Order: sequence, then structure tokens, then C-alpha cells
Amino acid sequence: GCGLCIKHCPFQAIKISNFPKVLQNQVTHRYGANTFKLHRLPLPRLGEVLGLVGSNGIGKSTALKILAGKLQPNLGKQEYGMAREEIMRFFRGSELENYMTKLLDKKLKALIKVQNIELIANDPKFDKVLVGKRLRTMGEGIRYGKIYRALDFQGITDREIQSLSGGELQRFAIAYTCIQNADIYLFDEPSSFLDIKQRLKAAKLIRSLLRAYNQVIVVEHDLQILDYLSDCICVLYGKSGTYGVVTMPYYVQEGINIFLAGYIPTENMRFRDDEFTFKVTDKDEQKEKDKITDQGQEHMRKTINYDYPAMEKTLDTFKLTARPGQIQQGEIVVMLGQNGIGKTTLIKLLAGALKPDDLTIELPRLNISYKPQTLAPKFEGTVRDLFCLKIHDTWQDLTFKTEVLIPLEIESLLDNYVQTLSGGELQKIAMVLALAKPCDIYLIDEPSAYLDIEQRIRLSKVMKSWIIKSNRTAIIVEHDFIMASYLADKVIAFHGMPGEFGYCRSPEGLISGMNKFLQLMDISIRRDSANFRPRINKRYSNQDFEQKSAGNYFLME
Ligand code: ADP
Ligand code: ADP
Ligand code: MG
Ligand code: MG
Repeated sequence: GCGLCIKHCPFQAIKISNFPKVLQNQVTHRYGANTFKLHRLPLPRLGEVLGLVGSNGIGKSTALKILAGKLQPNLGKQEYGMAREEIMRFFRGSELENYMTKLLDKKLKALIKVQNIELIANDPKFDKVLVGKRLRTMGEGIRYGKIYRALDFQGITDREIQSLSGGELQRFAIAYTCIQNADIYLFDEPSSFLDIKQRLKAAKLIRSLLRAYNQVIVVEHDLQILDYLSDCICVLYGKSGTYGVVTMPYYVQEGINIFLAGYIPTENMRFRDDEFTFKVTDKDEQKEKDKITDQGQEHMRKTINYDYPAMEKTLDTFKLTARPGQIQQGEIVVMLGQNGIGKTTLIKLLAGALKPDDLTIELPRLNISYKPQTLAPKFEGTVRDLFCLKIHDTWQDLTFKTEVLIPLEIESLLDNYVQTLSGGELQKIAMVLALAKPCDIYLIDEPSAYLDIEQRIRLSKVMKSWIIKSNRTAIIVEHDFIMASYLADKVIAFHGMPGEFGYCRSPEGLISGMNKFLQLMDISIRRDSANFRPRINKRYSNQDFEQKSAGNYFLME
């Protein structure tokens, strides 16, 4: 193949010899000889939010740094301190000419919310500085009040910046950028560490920055948030760590659909093997197919219902009250709720890792495979050693290999030491261990944490098809709304006061469960007409108003 277009390309996209040549003249930046290369740049527009989407290591942060003026592009020539003239010659005649001229002449004020917020916690400039005090010195009172309310700052304004948790630090970083005036605002992964409610609130705040004379660029892995935030989308594709190519901007709906389809029509470029669709019929069709192929074994199986009783659990000052639940074999239940509301507590109760307040309550005795939220590997050895020890029988199994190990690209990790794995790699290994364990029910707590969007898509597909094929049941905690509605047959919605009390309903059907949850969040969702992807309605739009007044927070047609 051309090395750019992934194998089995059904469109016969891209002539093998032409494409790289075109790209060769379009290198914007290269970190050094034989290192990562970024081709082209995203094209921001006045008065609009531009979203960037793509896997990790594909150049999103690099592009942001260039557009923020923090990194001077070297056009792939590996010299730093390149003359202004030469850079301008490269952009002359392109749509970026105006932007780059202003940037190089320092006539654009750019503010960037960096991806790695640890940098803020470790910045000596913020040493012993209080959150509220710092923010108040940066912007006017009205703006401070607005941001304070938008990001729920009560309780953390008198804290030192160094003492903030991940989610709190993220909100401070967003606030610190939003409170200042700029011509261009850049946000690198603003939703990391935030729960579903905080993500929506941050997205609303970021969007409210927009004026006719400024612009916003956002890198975001949560497609729902990206969709809500952006007017336009640039997709980044290529080979992680080797090269990345930025597409032209598409209108948000088209851009996200292109990303999900894995195919860019205007460039005739396929960058992912398979499409990702949300057809609600997928699962039923699958079930029908399975029935046909498995009819021979049907008599061997009996359908198990997993019923759990009403429970209460007190942890210090927090109390969870859970309604009883009934789940059928083969069903996937997704838990939805903000952080600190008791999702992990309920999972642990079901897993038997915690006992309910009433010790006489008996839970059904089932084989459980549990993937905890926090992963703290103590294993001293390679991934291969770990698999041999824990899932000796399953991981060599051919079906498991083709259904799980290959799509998750585990092969290349086998000889790495478990202790040296990155967050995303560790997550994938934890998921392999959980899926491989023979069980009646999977309990999976936040599988998409640390994964980039491509990996989330792949993992969601793997989880769903494996759970259906093995005819098992699963309860999954998932903050990414698109993945949640892709996975869920049923929903458990949580409400309450984070850290104080949580209340969870019985599992209920996707539509009614989502409806109640979205009502609490005060957002309405419709389905995309092309691929059935759920989309948040822009606030105060006609569609938003109509759906809310009809009580249809989650519209499926
Ligand atoms: P993304 O934000 O899409 O995850 P980045 O833009 O951060 O990707 O990085 C793209 C590639 O460039 C990665 O392979 C990364 O390792 C490499 N890279 C980033 N910064 C540097 C640097 N300062 N020197 C060398 N390589 C770098
Ligand atoms: P979620 O998974 O929804 O984010 P959790 O179930 O982990 O929430 O936690 C709910 C609340 O219970 C949080 O406020 C948390 O701080 C508190 N909590 C969890 N475990 C303990 C514990 N062992 N001791 C005291 N409080 C706890
Ligand atoms: Mg990045
Ligand atoms: Mg949790």
C-alpha cells in the first residue's frame, strides 16, 4: 500500500505515488531529523470555535502551540530561529497568511490552556497562591462572578493551587484562561479529569467567550463535547508519533461524521479500517444473527437474571441509597452520574468489595469480573508474564485474539514491563484481563479514562461485541456520552449532592433513563440523521426548546 492508506481500503483511495509528494511540500513543523512531522495547519476563523480531533501523538498539541505563537514552525527544515521572511513565504497566498503575519508581528494575543495541567501546579508563579485571589487579580468582577458560577468554584476559592485535585486544577486552568482578554483562546483537552456535568458546564463557558472579533480553538477527545463546542472541525490523521496531517475545516456535523467514518471524501483518504456507527438496530440485528448461529446450543443455555436488592452504604459523611435492580443476561447497563455521587461505591457493593450498611442483605452469588477505576499495578514482570499467570487459558484462544487482543493492539505491548506502561496502555491491559476472565457479569469502572478518542471507539466496539458474543452481562461506568449511548441497553442514573449523598434509580430502558438524566443536566439531545450519533442541541435553539417542553430530552428518531 501507500503506507498512508490503511490496508483493505474499500474505496481504493489515494494513488500510491501521488499523495506523499503533495504532502512533502506541506510540512509545517518537524522536531528534528527522523522525528514527528506535522503537515499543514488548522485554519481558525473569526467568531468561530474550531475543534481538533485525532488520536494521541498525531500533532494536535503541536498545532496548537504553533497557532498560539509558542512554537515557531520550522517548515520541516530542522532549523530553529528561521527567518520571518521564509516562514511568510511558505504561508503566502494561503488562507493562513493573514493569521500568521499577525502572529509573527506579535499583533495577536493568544492564550492557551495547556494539556498538561500539572505544569500549572508545579509553576513557581503559582506557589502558595490562592485560587480565588489569583483569578480576581486577572479579570473584572463581573467576569469573575460569571466564571465562579459557571465552574462551581464555591469551596475551592480559598485553596492553594498546589493542593487542587485533577478536576479542580482543570477548572482553575480553564478559568484562568477564560478570565483574561485575548484575540485567540486555545484549549488543549479541557475535559480531562472532569465529570459529565462539569464537562458540559466548561463547554458552555468556553463557548460564551466567542465574539465577532476573536476566535477559539479546542482539542477535545469527548466527541459530544467537541460537537457542542465547535462550529467547525479539523480532523488530524496519519501515524501516531510519526506524522500527522490536518484536514481543511468542515462544519461540525460533517467533520465529526468524517472522523467516525474514518474516511475523508475531499481527500479520498481512508484513515481507519472500519466505520463507527450508532444505528440503534445494530444490537438487535446482532442478536438475531447470534440466535441463528447458536440455535444448536440454545438448549444448553438458560437465561440468568441478575437481581440485586435495595441497598444503602455510608462512607464517612457520604451516603449512597440504591434502588433494587434487575438485569437480564446479555444486557449492558451503563451508569451515568457526576463524580463523587456513588458510582464506584455501587460497583464495589455489587462486586462484593464493600458490604452494605445492613449486613444481613444478601447479594446474588455470581462470578464477577471487576475492572476497578484506579489501576495501581504491583506486578513485577512483563505483560506476557501477567497474562500467563492470570488468564492463561483465554489469552491464547483464537477467538479472543481476533476479537480483543488484535483490535486493542496488545501484541506490541507484550514484552513491556507492566510497571512501565503509560496510563492508556495500562487501561487496555486491565480491560483485557477483565474481559478474559470467565464470569457471569462484568463490572467495569471508567474504561475510557486515559484513552484517546480512536482507542475509545475501538475499546467500545470490542467491549460491546465481546459481551454480546459471550452472552454475558455488564455494568459499565462511562462519562463519554457517545460511548455510553452506544453501549447501553439500560441506564442507571445517579443524582444527589457529590460527596454528601447519592441516590440511584433502578436500571431502566435507554430512552427513559437517558431522558431523566438529561433533564437533571438540563440539556436535550437529538440523533444525527446520517449516522444516529447523539448530538446535544445548542442551548436556546428551537430544537432545544421544543424537545424540552415536550419532555423529550433524548430524542431517538
Ligand atoms: P497530540 O497532542 O496529538 O497527542 P503532540 O503534538 O503532542 O500530539 O505530539 C506529536 C508527536 O510529536 C509525538 O510523537 C510527540 O512525541 C512528538 N513531540 C512532541 N513534542 C516534541 C518535542 N519537543 N520534541 C520532539 N518530539 C516531540
Ligand atoms: P463516583 O464513583 O461516583 O465518583 P464514589 O462512589 O467513588 O463516587 O464516591 C462517592 C463519595 O464517597 C465521594 O464523596 C467519596 O469521597 C466518598 N468515599 C468513597 N470511598 C470512601 C471511603 N473509603 N471513605 C470515605 N469516603 C469515601
Ligand atoms: Mg496533545
Ligand atoms: Mg468512580
